Amino acid sequence: MLPLVKPYIAPRDEMMPAIEKILYSGYIAEGEAVYSFEDEFAKYIGNPNVLMLSSGTAALHIALLLLNVGPGDEVISTPMTAEPTNTTIALTGAKIVWADVDVNTGLLDPKSVREKITEKTKAIMLVHYAGMVCDMDEFNKISEEFNIPVIEDTAHAFGSKYNGKIVGSNSRFTCYSFQAIKQMTTVDGGAIAFRDEADVAAARRLRWFGLDKKVSRMENDITRAGYKYGMNNVTATIGSVQLAHFPEVIGRYISNGKYYDEALKGIPGVTMVPYYKNTEPSYWLYTMKVENRDGFMKMMEENGILASPLHHRSDTHSVFAESRCDLPQMDKFYSEFVHIPCGWWVSDEDRERVTQAIKKGW
Ligand SMILES: *Cc1c(COP(=O)(O)O)cnc(C)c1O
Repeated sequence: MLPLVKPYIAPRDEMMPAIEKILYSGYIAEGEAVYSFEDEFAKYIGNPNVLMLSSGTAALHIALLLLNVGPGDEVISTPMTAEPTNTTIALTGAKIVWADVDVNTGLLDPKSVREKITEKTKAIMLVHYAGMVCDMDEFNKISEEFNIPVIEDTAHAFGSKYNGKIVGSNSRFTCYSFQAIKQMTTVDGGAIAFRDEADVAAARRLRWFGLDKKVSRMENDITRAGYKYGMNNVTATIGSVQLAHFPEVIGRYISNGKYYDEALKGIPGVTMVPYYKNTEPSYWLYTMKVENRDGFMKMMEENGILASPLHHRSDTHSVFAESRCDLPQMDKFYSEFVHIPCGWWVSDEDRERVTQAIKKGW
């Protein structure tokens, strides 16, 4: 069965010696390997203000903590995402306010976000779902006009671009995940990138109990309790090896995605998803809308190809009950969208086979 997600691990003859070296180096906690990985990653995304973390969830939490989001506040978010986007907001005690999605893309609709802003809105959480980038031209305007910071959850979209630049320096916070099934994995891990250098020092303390690692323990004074959210030298070493291969890996996602963009056009029963102005997706999951989705998935399975919506909308979970509201465009998108395999493991023959199967109908 051609899978929808599959971890890429760099060649054994590069990865194993690097892991062995760091494991027996005598220093496996946060240290030089983490700081080198931060530098390499910063160079790759073109933003020097980067901190490595233990997960993408930690990155989201740190962004919310830096904004002092808490009880009585509201955060506008999307139900069309993986659960951690929204469980993390819930952890702060703030109320999630759902905005509706654009029925064409499944990404947050700027018009709906505008309507949901109140004086309690502390942040707008955007998710570049499945590797597609939100309508950033519009969200930049909204952020400026209302003076509300944007957090970009780019867990699905490492390698996607806005205005020709890798997503990671547009909004005040950009949060990455290196969890097992994302485009680049460090087994588990994450990162946060800041637009403003001023945010880095406070975030660095929050990732390590509130302590400043640059100052000796005796001279440290914790003014705000932090978390245990740092990365360690072992996963950072894995990350450095992975990152060296990332351009070729993400190149394959993008090449497959662009192939489908052309090959699937005009097939009866398929509706293509458009991309917003000045954005380039990284195609973590190829997304489209189909008629008779159950029939489509069954046909694909019979052809040995996994096709699935993969995600469960967040707003129907009991924990978010107080946020329930009508989201008609979400209802429509959610009943029609599906993902097909698009990643680095999908060969030229595979993508042709996928296209042929869809062309035959279901
Ligand atoms: C994976 C994921 C996260 C969380 O990342 P972890 O590294 O697993 O904590 C957050 N948001 C989205 C959209 C994700 O897919």
